[in-house]
Amino acid sequence: MSDFIFNKKLETMPRPELKSLQLENLRGVVKHAYDNVPFYRNGLDKVGVKPSDIKTLDDIQKIPFTVKNDLRDNYPFGLMATDLENTIELHASSGTTGNPITVCYTQHDLDVWSEVMARCLSMSGLTSKDVFQNPIPYGLFTGAFGFHYGGMKVGALVVPSGGGQTERQLQLMKDYGVTFVSGVASYAAYLGQKALSMGLEPDKDLKVRNGLFGAEMFSSGLKKKLCDTWNMDVHDIYGLTEMCGPGVSTDCDQHDGLHLWEDHFLLEIIDPKTGEPVGVEEEGEMVISTITKEGMPILRYRTRDLSFIYDGGCECGRTHVKHAPIKGRSDDMIIIRGTNIYPSQIEHVLMGNDAVGTNYKITLYTEGIMDQMKVDVETKKIISEAEKETLAKTLAIGIKAVITLGPTVNVLDPGSIEQTTIKAKRVEDNRKK
Ligand SMILES: [Zn+2]
Repeated sequence: MSDFIFNKKLETMPRPELKSLQLENLRGVVKHAYDNVPFYRNGLDKVGVKPSDIKTLDDIQKIPFTVKNDLRDNYPFGLMATDLENTIELHASSGTTGNPITVCYTQHDLDVWSEVMARCLSMSGLTSKDVFQNPIPYGLFTGAFGFHYGGMKVGALVVPSGGGQTERQLQLMKDYGVTFVSGVASYAAYLGQKALSMGLEPDKDLKVRNGLFGAEMFSSGLKKKLCDTWNMDVHDIYGLTEMCGPGVSTDCDQHDGLHLWEDHFLLEIIDPKTGEPVGVEEEGEMVISTITKEGMPILRYRTRDLSFIYDGGCECGRTHVKHAPIKGRSDDMIIIRGTNIYPSQIEHVLMGNDAVGTNYKITLYTEGIMDQMKVDVETKKIISEAEKETLAKTLAIGIKAVITLGPTVNVLDPGSIEQTTIKAKRVEDNRKK
């Protein structure tokens, strides 16, 4: 066990004990939801299930799924299981395609969120000795607060630098001797690039040695580039507003799968078409239930994220189940000329090339009647036009080998593609519908 375990008793609990705790919590949350949320009471009545029918963990399959539209239809407070008077914090997703997903937390919910975030941060190397910069916009989004609460719980010195102002972020990082950083991987990549352009060498002039990044899937290639630029170890965090925000799972020092906190969440993997459970190590859609939430418990939530559950234990000593890094949200899937493509497949090819930087963009457009794909990608360092041309060819061949479709690849100088701090917009779809 090389990394620090925040809550040894719970994180390394023997499986049989953990499963029985999970069942106890599941039974509790089903009763709580049934007694207090008309949506769940009606849903369970419709299929003839009473909370007392949940006798084993597999009995969860008797409960109907909850989907994103259920949260939108019950906007803003229809799924609350407690009075608003008992809640003390509200967060919401952006709501660009409908009512924002809105969640309210009781003190207990905030305590649980802080605890699971503290576990994730400790697993990524954060200790009370660290100076932890949190360059995420503080606001309705869950991200910044989750990291902030977890960081405080660990006892680190939290620097709430918020979003934007990249040069200032780097200045603070240098002045305060920041050792740990959070956010999204694409922004960390951008910070690294900006540092170099300011004449700072992140691996020498800055003290950041660990990072925990979430909100977007990122490939092992991008991870490696970040590690090299900063000389830091990088961990991946998963979560979603509907569950609590970030904090559902993180990868340990083995960097092989993310541990999901089974005393607070229950993970199932289903076939997205049939809704039936799939086997261990079989890919499917993640369905997660919150089993300790007071304010807004969510049962069997269809996340639309694709992953699979690992078989067997982990060298790190934690006993909680591991799932594979998210392959992609089914929402992220691009269908072009009848082929299903995940942007992660393209990222994998780009980041596998040493001459490539950390920033890229995929654009879909229509030419005549044909859908086309263009990939803009930055180099790590400035190279000649002839070298760019050769690199573009290599990348186009590499991408075609993976997705069977040959895109146009444009190789650009570092810093040419516009960047944001929240989440890099990797795909732009300009096709004629
Ligand atoms: Zn582990």
